[in-house]
Amino acid sequence: MQDDRRSDNPDGSRAGHIIRGTIITMDPERRLIDDGAVALAGDQIIGVGPANEILASFPSSIVTGSAADLVVPGYINGHQHLTGDRLIQSSIPDNLAPGESIFSWVVPVHAAHTPDNDELSASLTLAESLVNGVTSTFEAGTVAHPDRVAAAAQQVGARVTLGTWGWDVDNGPFAGPVDEVIDRQRQLLTQFNGPLVSSWVALIGHDLMSDELATAASELAKSHDTKLTFHISPTTSDVDSYLARTGKRPLVHLDELGVLGPHTVLAHAVHLDDDEAQRVLASQAAVVSCPWAYLRLGQGITREFRHLQLWQSAGRLALGCDSENAGDSVDGLRVAALFTGLAKDCSVDPTVFGAHEGLELLTIKGAQALGVADQVGSIEVGKQADLVVHDRTGVSWPPLGRDPVLQLVWGNDGRSVRDVLVAGHLVVRDGKVLGLDLEAATIAAAEAAEELIARADIEPTSCWPMLPPQA
Ligand SMILES: [Zn+2]
Repeated sequence: MQDDRRSDNPDGSRAGHIIRGTIITMDPERRLIDDGAVALAGDQIIGVGPANEILASFPSSIVTGSAADLVVPGYINGHQHLTGDRLIQSSIPDNLAPGESIFSWVVPVHAAHTPDNDELSASLTLAESLVNGVTSTFEAGTVAHPDRVAAAAQQVGARVTLGTWGWDVDNGPFAGPVDEVIDRQRQLLTQFNGPLVSSWVALIGHDLMSDELATAASELAKSHDTKLTFHISPTTSDVDSYLARTGKRPLVHLDELGVLGPHTVLAHAVHLDDDEAQRVLASQAAVVSCPWAYLRLGQGITREFRHLQLWQSAGRLALGCDSENAGDSVDGLRVAALFTGLAKDCSVDPTVFGAHEGLELLTIKGAQALGVADQVGSIEVGKQADLVVHDRTGVSWPPLGRDPVLQLVWGNDGRSVRDVLVAGHLVVRDGKVLGLDLEAATIAAAEAAEELIARADIEPTSCWPMLPPQA
């Protein structure tokens, strides 16, 4: 591939660029174009089809890539904490009792996060996302300094929807009375509403929001034509606390409050009964499934895989990577493969769901669930040029199977991503994030992690006793 793939356009866009390869479009016909091409102008896709046709239609374009490449729509991560976890990644023990990782680790670390920590943390998480092909990231609602996370997103070139803290408990970091929380959310919506850095209304959720806050947040999201997201029922503890407080299960209660609707994005919703599942479907609320987190935390996803039932009932579903201490790797393809495997295994029916459906959740179906399918999620004329190029010359690929989706989801992960474009801008080239000085970030992260651990007064896990270096 040619080295210089940036155009000379003043805005840095790459008008007149054609990318060749086998194209997995994820368009309504799910076209798969062998030796195809995608033509770009500015931030948009202006042509998709067989390479000879596209080359003839846009004759003066710079052409990059070859039929050995696999070109797919940018992957969509519907639930990701961009701060708090990254700088202490792989530090929270994986044998804690339910809830302990949140209240003994994650919350104190968030409380100790500085604005610099926020930006550094988000830079690293988003950079890892991009090199694994994740172009759209929806933040889960725990950002304390959104301006710094927005700066990180702009620096690395990721498409991000920001969330900020929303809870009205007594003593959590950034908690407050309903009016204060809603004002903070409203300010975020006003400040970040661009095509690349946008925002949504986010509550922590669980049993950490009053009914008044939940309804006010829901109305705020609707009035701004955006989404409301919150965590709910990854374990059975939410069910127990809602039953004790309201006499009803969480999603029954929230539905009766009017909080569920097409504007609602439920993070997790693992432990539902039939009534709750029916209310999710009837209200057209979306669910983001983060299966690696459920396995890492032992939350019971294999016992009752409601997410498959929601999908089978035409429910709105997206995939998420969650956080670096609950799911850990920020790699959408790993999530899609796991979800696909769980769907087959939990139903004891290998015919029910496959790699193609897994890739749908990671692209177009995820985009539909999150309300952004008019812009991203497929390779179609008029959509944003968010593209991932997998290099199929690496050792995992030969011989090429006849079904590249099968080979992509089951046989590969983010490691074969070579180039990534977001809104027509090349943000990853040859596996490197162009907008991140990785060496400097590595040094800064090591220092920041030590300081953060000391401020948060936590004791990170270590494995067996480390032996001193041999003389
Ligand atoms: Zn979360």
